[in-house]
Amino acid sequence: MTVYARPGAPDAVMLFQSRYDNWIGGTWTAPVGGEYFENTTPVTGQAFCEVARSGAADVELALDAAHAAASAWGKTTAAERALVLNSIADRMEANLESIAVAESWDNGKPVRETLNADIPLAIDHFRYFAGAIRAQEGSLSQIDEDTVAYHFHEPLGVVGQIIPWNFPILMATWKLAPALAAGNAIVMKPAEQTPASIMHLISLIGDLLPDGVLNIVNGFGTETGKPLASSNRIAKVAFTGETTTGRLIMQYASQNLIPVTLELGGKSPNIFFDDVLAKADAYQDKALEGFTMFALNQGEVCTCPSRSLIQNTIYDEFLELAAIRTKAVRQGDPLDTETMIGAQASNDQFEKILSYIDIGKAEGATVVTGGERSDLGGDLSGGYYIQPTVFAGTNDMRIFQEEIFGPVVSVTSFTDYDDAIRIANDTLYGLGAGVWSRNGSTAYRAGRDIQAGRVWTNTYHQYPAHAAFGGYKQSGFGRENHRMMLDHYQQTKNLLVSY
Ligand code: NAD
Repeated sequence: MTVYARPGAPDAVMLFQSRYDNWIGGTWTAPVGGEYFENTTPVTGQAFCEVARSGAADVELALDAAHAAASAWGKTTAAERALVLNSIADRMEANLESIAVAESWDNGKPVRETLNADIPLAIDHFRYFAGAIRAQEGSLSQIDEDTVAYHFHEPLGVVGQIIPWNFPILMATWKLAPALAAGNAIVMKPAEQTPASIMHLISLIGDLLPDGVLNIVNGFGTETGKPLASSNRIAKVAFTGETTTGRLIMQYASQNLIPVTLELGGKSPNIFFDDVLAKADAYQDKALEGFTMFALNQGEVCTCPSRSLIQNTIYDEFLELAAIRTKAVRQGDPLDTETMIGAQASNDQFEKILSYIDIGKAEGATVVTGGERSDLGGDLSGGYYIQPTVFAGTNDMRIFQEEIFGPVVSVTSFTDYDDAIRIANDTLYGLGAGVWSRNGSTAYRAGRDIQAGRVWTNTYHQYPAHAAFGGYKQSGFGRENHRMMLDHYQQTKNLLVSY
């Protein structure tokens, strides 16, 4: 067991700057208005640095820098860009602990996740897109004896990217790696709740890119994000966040008729068919572990399996076992490597989740376990900790229909296959889903019948770089990851040549 020292302590693996300016044109750039906002760690609830509070003028500066850099970057070869992406991955790997601790401190998530999952995955995404761009090919068709059609990939130019706070560095990487690989220059706005870990990352990798290719502008949604998404100087806006914000982003972008990618909210079903409990073996153990995935990352995952559907013949027994497993999810100091669930990312989110727990109680759902905030003592008492909570109820309840984005799962039963699929699809969302069955045919059919962009079968919460990810219905459109992502950041140029 290791408990990492708090950032800034004498033996800490990392030290945040006390103030972060924007990163524009390859230099730290103070906000035009001279204003900064306080950034708080959810681990203790204390402020630990201040960050540039940007407005439209700062966005324009970043766009100037991006436009100045875009043409030269877009003309580099795939091999040159791949080298840069791989050098970013190497630099991150060499600084893994400091980035992981920074991410945990800024977001409240356990360092065991950031060290072993979030940051290694981010590193792998840079490497994956370095390989993908080198493997990308154009095409040539012979039209007639004298005429040939060539198809080339060209970068879009300057793109805007707006990201949320739940996986700050991984969400940034999902957008940065393909966009850079494809040869675009970028203006990115991090979430105001978690800007510091990304700025720490920039302090480590900023020198690896030509000036102006990557620009980071910090600030709030309407002050910074809106001018970016509304700008007629970007060729695309890629957004991850709430469905309600996604609607606004689409409105802004429609003024300039630029494409948008929207990665939005979810209310993912996790379905357990009765054969899961056929034997008390390793498979059953894995399925019960799969149930507890609602608490991973404090439930602040767009694909959080926040609705568990359990076949009625095993409902009572499964729920009893699931409650025991849930109670074993160890909550504690995020910087302790034994901790499995840490703090909610912000006070607002903490309050929102507690209010949904009250809503669940008020609408008659049964609290199976949890249902309260956790006071972990010492300086953690000021942090934002909530017990993993299991509710039993029905799919028409608000806690089954609305995204809570916390460590709360709502459980209900189903009678047969058709009933399971009906309940699973009875939601506005369609991002993720889980299916647990020993019967390969049932699992496959359910995977095809569920309306969601990602269905995990006999597993959950895996995010490899080469598997496409994205939403159906009001969970958004466009995809992330997989080499198809390059298409989202490129134009197709056709040259029709008569020789
Ligand atoms: P949010 O929509 O509140 O904010 C996301 C980003 O948008 C932030 O940077 C914010 O400052 C910015 N923003 C807010 N209002 C804006 C506006 N009017 N114009 C431009 N930018 C604006 O979302 P959040 O609370 O940060 O993140 C949680 C949400 O993100 C959840 O709904 C979750 O499901 C979703 N999410 C989706 C995915 C996915 O891949 N589908 C991944 C992670 C999170």
